[in-house]
Amino acid sequence: MSLQQKLTEERRGRLAAERMLELKKAELFAANRKLGRNARQLNDEIVDTRALVESIRGENKRVKSDLSAAQEKIALVERRLWHSIETIKDGFAFFDSDNHLIMANAAYMAIFEGLEVIKPGVNYVTILQAMTDEGIVNLDGINPTEWRQEMQIRFQQSHPPSEIIRLWNGMYVKLVDQRGPGGDMVSLGLDITATVHYERELDAARKQAEAANRAKSAFLANMSHEIRTPMNGVIGMADLLGDTVLSEEQRLYAQTIKNSGEALLVIINDVLDYSKIEADRLELHSDPFDLERACQEVIMLLQPMARDKGLELLLDYDLFLPTELIGDAGRIRQVLTNLIGNAVKFTSEGHVLVRITGVTDIKRGTVQVHIAVEDTGIGIPAHMTDHIFGDFNQVENERNRQFDGTGLGLAITKRLVQLMNGEICVTSIEGEGSCFGLRVVLDIHGTFEMDHPHIPPQLGRVMIADDISANRSILEHQLKQLQIEAFGVPDNASALEGLEGRVDAILMDHKPPRLDALALIQALRDRGSDVPVILLSANLIGMKDAPRSGQFSAMLQKPVPRHTLIKALQAIAGQVDRASPSSPELRQMRVLAAEDNRTNRLVFRKMVKTLNIALEFATNGEEAVEMYQSFKPDIVFMDISMPRMDGKQATTHIRQIEAHSGKHVPVIAMTAHAMPDDDKSILEAGLDHYLTKPLRRAEIEARIFKAQPEGTLPVQETPVQHAG
Ligand code: ADP
Repeated sequence: MSLQQKLTEERRGRLAAERMLELKKAELFAANRKLGRNARQLNDEIVDTRALVESIRGENKRVKSDLSAAQEKIALVERRLWHSIETIKDGFAFFDSDNHLIMANAAYMAIFEGLEVIKPGVNYVTILQAMTDEGIVNLDGINPTEWRQEMQIRFQQSHPPSEIIRLWNGMYVKLVDQRGPGGDMVSLGLDITATVHYERELDAARKQAEAANRAKSAFLANMSHEIRTPMNGVIGMADLLGDTVLSEEQRLYAQTIKNSGEALLVIINDVLDYSKIEADRLELHSDPFDLERACQEVIMLLQPMARDKGLELLLDYDLFLPTELIGDAGRIRQVLTNLIGNAVKFTSEGHVLVRITGVTDIKRGTVQVHIAVEDTGIGIPAHMTDHIFGDFNQVENERNRQFDGTGLGLAITKRLVQLMNGEICVTSIEGEGSCFGLRVVLDIHGTFEMDHPHIPPQLGRVMIADDISANRSILEHQLKQLQIEAFGVPDNASALEGLEGRVDAILMDHKPPRLDALALIQALRDRGSDVPVILLSANLIGMKDAPRSGQFSAMLQKPVPRHTLIKALQAIAGQVDRASPSSPELRQMRVLAAEDNRTNRLVFRKMVKTLNIALEFATNGEEAVEMYQSFKPDIVFMDISMPRMDGKQATTHIRQIEAHSGKHVPVIAMTAHAMPDDDKSILEAGLDHYLTKPLRRAEIEARIFKAQPEGTLPVQETPVQHAG
């Protein structure tokens, strides 16, 4: 190789080396810069970290001081809590999940009286053992081992039921334990000694009060029974005495005895009812009954009192209202008696009108009955209309003071109506009269079909002769509903005038001299008129024996039941074929009465003496059963308390006999008992109804009329038709 070449090569090599040097220099520089940068960054980071460390140090200090403050606080709270737990008088303890005692307050420990083993760490089993071994718990004969086992099983549960234990010193402790989520058990031992003692006292007081209440009820029942039995004799005999020949003075005495007796009975009944209501023992017993008949019966009972005062007592029962309803007939009668009785009592002239209307809901089978009792009496001051429904409340004024009473009647009535889910209210104008209205919804018995009675057209126009205009309008209204034209006249003179037009029949009352049915019928026959006359009277007794009374087409007892009036009208229109009452194959109705008391037998006999019946008596239950078979009565009246065999047993026997014959003769209890349980047991023994003593003629008669079988002679001699 030439020199030139060698030089060239060397230069090239040098140049390459120089370039390489330059390159490395640049790289070194870049690396140096990077190193510088990193060093700065590192420096910055060191500074930051230092600051952070400083701040953490500060924070740490603060946290430490907070922590110690919190620890102090916790210690304080714990001290306070423990102090509180220590101060409570009930025992308090903690157990761990293995049932070792963690801690317990002084009250808890106190019952162990410093027993050494009972300290933190002790097991619950040991505690139980100590309790039995040391006689701390009074086991009252329970086996200690069994007790401990039961208590231990109880303690294992997560929610042990509370348990009451009695300690040796008579202290009662209620154990309440609750296991926490970690298995720890909190135990409370509550000192309930005072509560137990209080409960015991309360229990003893309650038992004493119950015993006193039972004694009171028994006393009331007894008193009612004891008073009713002799009262039956007193009232019944006074009543019969009134039917004998007496001087005016004697009659007054007899009447006073009877009135006082009846007044006493009303008071006894009111007080009895009131005490039953007070004790929430008054219950309603719903059964089918006839509302119209119930009204009639109440009116018939009060009729004599109204008559004595010269008052008209009227019933207007809506012609198209159902009467077969379901309800507590006895209580409904009581409400009616009270309202109508008050109306008669507080009225000295005019009338008392009982109006029964209602709204029938055929779909539901119910009827909303409205009963209004309207009088023309002394009235009630407006501000007193609420007051009088309160217990023992009466209007206190001059006029009112003349009347006797307990002030309980309306309070009882209101409660009875409320028990029937009904309402009662009164409107009144002082000096003019009052109207008590009540509304109650009752079920209809059976299927009620609107029954439009048919009266033949022969009876197109009827005269109503009655001196009371309210009476005339009730009858006019009823006849119009039957498509009969009716017009009213107040006395004989206007009746004779009225006869100049067409008259197909006359409905008339008898109150001579102005309204004299006997004179009118005579005048008619004298004129050759044979227009039929139906006598409607509240007092038929005197009329039955009057001459010419046979000329009446019918003699009806007021208040006249609707069906009776309709039947009588149909009969005079020549549509009803009635069996002749003197038909030879008819026999007398047979009535058996079982009664051990001689006086009461006499009373009974006298009460039915006007009836055309065959009456026999049995003097005890055994005899009643025998006579049931030999005499074959159509109805039996049965006293309940009788020697040898009582009325309930006798009836049970009769029903057994009937089980073979398939017959069912009505047996009516006659009882002096008046408590609700008696009613139940009487009916359960197979009796159909019961009458309470003192017996009343109308009630006995009603039962007999109702039970009269086909093929017997009319029980009443005149063709009188009765409510029963
Ligand atoms: P009693 O009739 O025994 O006093 P009630 O509770 O039946 O008790 O009646 C309370 C009072 O309401 C009566 O005392 C009387 O002041 C008044 N009262 C009740 N009904 C009537 C009435 N029809 N007319 C006037 N006042 C009446």
